[in-house]
Amino acid sequence: MSRACGRVDIDIGRIVTEFLCLLVVAGFVALLFVLRAQRTNRKVRMSCGECAYKTAWSPKSPAEATLVGHYGQRHPGIAPSGLLEWRQ
Ligand SMILES: [Zn+2]
Repeated sequence: MSRACGRVDIDIGRIVTEFLCLLVVAGFVALLFVLRAQRTNRKVRMSCGECAYKTAWSPKSPAEATLVGHYGQRHPGIAPSGLLEWRQ
């Protein structure tokens, strides 16, 4: 009987431990998502490396696409480059 009780105690302890581990992992993943969301919400403005053109303030991906489109129209054959400005 005492052996059976001991096994039950060990199982409960393992379940609690696994649950706590799961909580820690879930919290960490949630934190990563929040940080990532904050970062993608930040606005950027990209300046053309060849002329005075600047994109509008927007998330990074659209800003990059706009600058690539500008290079395609105004500076064909030149690899896109320039300055990236961040705004909180
Ligand atoms: Zn340009």
